[in-house]
Amino acid sequence: MNDLSTLTGWGGTSPSSAHVVRPVDVDALRGQLATAGPRGVIVRGLGRSYGDPAQNAGGTVIDLTDWDAILDVDSRAPAVRVQAGISLDRLLRALLPLGLWLPVVPGTRQVTVGGAIAADVHGKNHHMDGSFGNHVSQLDILLASGDIVSATPEGDNAELFWATVGGMGLTGVVLEATIELKEVETSYFVVDTQRTRNLAELLSALSDGDDDYTYSVAWFDTATTGDALGRAVITRGNTALREELNTAQRGSALRFAASQHGRVPFALPMGLVTRPTARAFNALWYAKAPRHRVGEVQDITQFFHPLDVVGDWNRVYGPHGFCQYQFVVPFSEEAAFTTAVETLAQSGHVSSLNVLKRFGPGNASPMSFPMPGWTLAVDLPVRPGLDTLLSHLDQLVVAAGGRIYLAKDSRAAAATIARMYPRLQEFRATRAHYDPDRIFRSDLSRRLDL
Ligand SMILES: Cc1cc2nc3c(=O)[nH]c(=O)nc-3n(C[C@H](O)[C@H](O)[C@H](O)COP(=O)(O)OP(=O)(O)OC[C@H]3O[C@@H](n4cnc5c(N)ncnc54)[C@H](O)[C@@H]3O)c2cc1C
Repeated sequence: MNDLSTLTGWGGTSPSSAHVVRPVDVDALRGQLATAGPRGVIVRGLGRSYGDPAQNAGGTVIDLTDWDAILDVDSRAPAVRVQAGISLDRLLRALLPLGLWLPVVPGTRQVTVGGAIAADVHGKNHHMDGSFGNHVSQLDILLASGDIVSATPEGDNAELFWATVGGMGLTGVVLEATIELKEVETSYFVVDTQRTRNLAELLSALSDGDDDYTYSVAWFDTATTGDALGRAVITRGNTALREELNTAQRGSALRFAASQHGRVPFALPMGLVTRPTARAFNALWYAKAPRHRVGEVQDITQFFHPLDVVGDWNRVYGPHGFCQYQFVVPFSEEAAFTTAVETLAQSGHVSSLNVLKRFGPGNASPMSFPMPGWTLAVDLPVRPGLDTLLSHLDQLVVAAGGRIYLAKDSRAAAATIARMYPRLQEFRATRAHYDPDRIFRSDLSRRLDL
């Protein structure tokens, strides 16, 4: 057995040590399952979950990122078949020149297809297109028994399919997936920007206008209290048609504009995100946004992934890391949503990356996060008192019939998650059927008793 490596999620909290292996083929992978000790095994993609789902203290972590082949592109369907370790970044670079695009892209492209399925990730278009699992038409899954089974959303092994979507790697190893694609004429977006002065104006603007746009998101000030509580900048857009581009842009209509300009070399000792810097950032972001601008053409990085420009940007939070707290509450629970925002704004814990959006309907997965409602994500540096604040927010969210996102969590209690995910027992039963000896385990599964 190789040495232990220390792993964390993107938030840098809750480190733990595991034997990390990179199996070269299915037989080697089966060997890892057959020889798993009492601490079991879990697959890891690119480690972009913020918390502990891709860690396994004292057990084995299977790094699947070498399994990254594009197996088939069907331009007529259109659909693509891939090995699950491929990153969305690599996949998009290959698909765009063919005029093809992934139906759901999260806030970073540096995630694997396996990770996108296991967390059932969502993008800015959830209100129109649902989450990643809605667009997967077939999976090959390696079970704890060593058997490889095919699973589809409505046919073969549908129960396994939906438990694997959002199942955080606990039902088996996704080896290959077929993903339905979108056709696009360009890699640009036509974007409208609108500033709103407070929370009520923001919720009303999003409720009224969202259905005219495929993509919609609001950056949100969580530092300002009083009349301007919840002031925001809404950006909404659609994929640009060729005729909407200027001559220079038409020359590179399907260009993949996504460079990286540098990395944060090491965890900054004190962290850059302190209360004063976060407050200043919130104020600056709001002030620099146009009050109302329509029809601006933006490229992929500008519109989708500004954070991917700087590698390892999570290091600005310093050695203690940060929690990304993302919750959703149903549309009827605006009062609870407002209370949660007031609680955050008055807490003294300040976040500079705050994203609000409206979710559309969820899907058939028992553990998928999205439900129709308001979702807010905030990045909070780890400081004394943070867990008390987040535990308080958990209770607000539970009481409102909402939930938090497992891909972002590193600290919630098992009892709280059980109340947030009413179909947890169903998931546990499916998991027990396919993995009776609990070969697949992670720090997350132990913490939350999944
Ligand atoms: C900057 C940033 C922005 C983000 N924005 C969004 C967003 O907009 N929307 C959103 O939904 N999420 C978002 N995320 C979260 C991210 O999309 C998910 O956490 C995703 O699961 C990470 O994929 P990964 O490949 O890094 O997987 P990891 O973090 O390595 O693993 C995540 C889970 O997937 C499982 N897994 C991985 N591969 C397989 C496989 N082959 N078979 C079975 N299980 C597997 C692991 O066991 C683990 O449980 C963001 C993350 C970051 C860092």
